[in-house]
Amino acid sequence: LFAGAADFYAAAQTLDRLPPMEDVEIAFAGRSNVGKSSLINALTGRNTLARTSHTPGRTQQLNFFKVGPRLSLVDMPGYGYAAVEKAKVEAWTRLIHDYLKGRANLARVFVLIDARHGLKSLDTDVLDGLDKAAVSYQIVLTKADALKKSEVANRLAGIEAALARRPAAFPQIILTSSRDDSGVPELRAAIARLLAE
Ligand code: GDP
Repeated sequence: LFAGAADFYAAAQTLDRLPPMEDVEIAFAGRSNVGKSSLINALTGRNTLARTSHTPGRTQQLNFFKVGPRLSLVDMPGYGYAAVEKAKVEAWTRLIHDYLKGRANLARVFVLIDARHGLKSLDTDVLDGLDKAAVSYQIVLTKADALKKSEVANRLAGIEAALARRPAAFPQIILTSSRDDSGVPELRAAIARLLAE
């Protein structure tokens, strides 16, 4: 699935610019600086597909990458960057909300959480939105390399406890690092399973 070339495909700042609902879409969401670009690049084996180390919060658009004949990855704009002015935050929230609500071909949103920081209140807000829109989501921990084994176990237990209090049944948390590529095969497998459904 990820052996071939992944290519930039479309960018949407407004709803009327979304590509047609042909492919199965898998979206990636997370706070600015969570490691989303790095993980998308690790996943697709392309180092420049998603731009890393850009000004956090600058890209207020949905980016679509085609990775197979039937699959597109959707890079959602990072949230939680304080310097983004209020009007932009509102436009962002509206775009995301409308995209999530109307996208029948969206199979899952991977919500990326920095393993060092765990679930923050903004992340919880995003999960609330996903629950409300009845969108399937799965937590992916990033930067696992930055934690000791015991810290990882505690982090996982904490997030599992928080998810267990939420309405939807939740799929397994995937632990990743784009530094050492750990968890990347598991993430690919999860995507392949969604495509097979
Ligand atoms: P984005 O803003 O979510 O797209 O995040 P980036 O991919 O640009 O990464 C933000 C910062 O986190 C950069 O300084 C990366 O070098 C760092 N980073 C990304 N992935 C990892 C990882 O797996 N482990 C560690 N330790 N740092 C990472």
